[in-house]
Amino acid sequence: MTALVFLDPDFSAGRVADAATAQLSVLDQGVTRGDGIFESALYANGVVRKLDAHLARLRVSASTSDLLIPHEEAWRAAIATAVAEFDAATPCEEAVVKLVATRGTEGTDHGTSWVMVSAAPELGRRQRESGVSVIFLDRGYDSKVAERAPWLLMGAKTLSYAVNMAALRHAKKMGADDVIFVSSDGIVLEGPTSTVLIAHRDGDTKRLITPTLETGILPGTTQGAIFTAAREAGWELGYGPLTPQNLMDAEGVWLVSSVRLLTPVNSIDGTAIARDGQLHAELTAMVDAIQ
Ligand code: PLP
Repeated sequence: MTALVFLDPDFSAGRVADAATAQLSVLDQGVTRGDGIFESALYANGVVRKLDAHLARLRVSASTSDLLIPHEEAWRAAIATAVAEFDAATPCEEAVVKLVATRGTEGTDHGTSWVMVSAAPELGRRQRESGVSVIFLDRGYDSKVAERAPWLLMGAKTLSYAVNMAALRHAKKMGADDVIFVSSDGIVLEGPTSTVLIAHRDGDTKRLITPTLETGILPGTTQGAIFTAAREAGWELGYGPLTPQNLMDAEGVWLVSSVRLLTPVNSIDGTAIARDGQLHAELTAMVDAIQ
């Protein structure tokens, strides 16, 4: 079951709707142009995890895209209604809370915004344990493009994920589970739906590194929360730039995201990646503690 709640000024707690029947105009620019933004958060143990970070990033994506979206209180109210609807119908361990805001129906001056809650995909949960095989794929632009071309909306979480999904399908055809994008000038970027983390251990020193945001990647809320916990636990932190070889030489490589959490990378382009069990256990404990 999917719980659906539209943000609607006439309904202070949001307007509950039926996700199984038609709800959206075919003229909505979210549909006709992929012109909109979204967030995916994890709902577990009665809590929408990192909700403040998701709402903050939604606000940044809206401002980058010149999109007017409802106030934070309206989102919080609609989310509360949606998770209550979901819990009443389908109690389950983990669910995805998706926030969507589009530019709305062409010719109108207001957008369309809604919240959806549905059961978390089983595959992502399994891969936290099994790990994934990954291939590097060329993202088709260089690592400086964000600064040069702000109209590409780099770093915003827009609805235009067709390329990301195509990359994942390509990986499946090649027999791999997932993708790490590399810029045309050879810098590691991100996964189609995840942030890349690598770790090194040197004696007692543990170091966690993620690609620099200057490459135009999405600022990951999971990476942010892990870095905060790792800093408190005494790890050293670093922000790229990273090359593919840096990943091959690491003591561990992970794909992290709000719904899948921490997924270890077993191999890249068919070459095994080291998996340091202790580093993995420590990072898993940090991810489990995120609220
Ligand atoms: N990068 C991309 C392109 C994503 O789509 C996502 C999440 O879906 C992430 C990174 C990870 O972001 P977060 O940890 O906030 O879920």
